[in-house]
Amino acid sequence: MPKEDQAARLERLAREAHERAEARDLAADGGGASDAHHHPAEAATDADARERQLQAALRLKKEEERLTRAAEAAARGEYGICADCGEKIPDARLEIVPDAERCIPCQQAATGRRR
Ligand SMILES: [Zn+2]
Repeated sequence: MPKEDQAARLERLAREAHERAEARDLAADGGGASDAHHHPAEAATDADARERQLQAALRLKKEEERLTRAAEAAARGEYGICADCGEKIPDARLEIVPDAERCIPCQQAATGRRR
């Protein structure tokens, strides 16, 4: 994959995450004003729904941050390097998880440490 395409792809993904987060924020503020897609989860209490919305918005913001960092790394030609061990993250993994910051063994180690 050419480096420029990589950076462009990551920037697009970051923008999309940002837009989804914005849409979530608006939905949370409007208290259901944007009712384009009501789903069963919204039948839960308002507090539950709001909590879920905040969590989802937070996740999207983090995703946007990771994608933005990845796009910056791609611009420097450093995209796809594991943050922990410095090895190259396999392309197959980056295809599935474009904002991956670690190779699979390091990610598993990092996730394991959190428990
Ligand atoms: Zn690693």
